[in-house]
Amino acid sequence: MIQIDGLHKAYGTLEVLKGVSLSAPRGHVISLIGSSGSGKSTLLRCCNLLEDSQQGDILFKGEPLTWKGTGHDRRPSDPAQVLRIRTNLSMVFQQFNLWAHMTILQNVMEAPLTVLRRDRAEVETAARGYLEKVGIGDKCDVYPAQLSGGQQQRAAIARALCMEPEALLFDEPTSALDPELEQEVVKVIKDLAAEGRTMIIVTHDMKLAADVSDHVIFLHQGLIEEQGPPDILFSAPRSERLRGFLSATL
Ligand code: ADP
Ligand code: MG
Repeated sequence: MIQIDGLHKAYGTLEVLKGVSLSAPRGHVISLIGSSGSGKSTLLRCCNLLEDSQQGDILFKGEPLTWKGTGHDRRPSDPAQVLRIRTNLSMVFQQFNLWAHMTILQNVMEAPLTVLRRDRAEVETAARGYLEKVGIGDKCDVYPAQLSGGQQQRAAIARALCMEPEALLFDEPTSALDPELEQEVVKVIKDLAAEGRTMIIVTHDMKLAADVSDHVIFLHQGLIEEQGPPDILFSAPRSERLRGFLSATL
């Protein structure tokens, strides 16, 4: 579904990704772990083209993104392709990023209506269904500020689902939540994994990564230091850095 080959990304002179490759096959869950500043968010944002990059390839369903220019002047060359990729990879952010002036239902309906120009009645039915699915079907008409963090994050997940994306990208979806609220979001993510959705999850929650992932990638200073299936990676880490990271995290 998503493939990244040898991606390099710098902010000015700061090299953040130094040649990273990953592939997220359809129906697989990939977790990205690593210390703060290792480039996890940047990699995720590169996947759905929220960030540019200077070198390397990005493929969506086998179709390579087309570029014009090189290095810091490199840009995607086909706006329609960018829109197609971006709308098919829905992102869920640490800070929820709900629109404060819209009700929960309006939040979920907004992008399908304005970006995809879908039929309002159909979108409303779908939006109510997704809010029901994440367990907040009774919160359609309230504003984000009236919800707990866990409920807001579940609304953000419903919003991502309502785009009917081919894959979901999560950037530390539980990091802003109190531990007791974290679990209600973890449950939703586990349900989505069990449905066979394609997901890339950046998380500090090693239990979540161990429970839902088909493949775990440990990023260190912009490079993949180690990767593998979670049962092997977590029980028998080979690199000193991953061992250190895991012992500091658990
Ligand atoms: P992580 O998500 O693993 O904590 P990030 O991808 O957010 O790491 O950041 C990697 C590095 O890139 C950090 O050194 C961070 O300070 C830097 N960085 C991230 N975003 C920007 C930006 N917009 N401008 C400049 N530097 C950035
Ligand atoms: Mg981050």
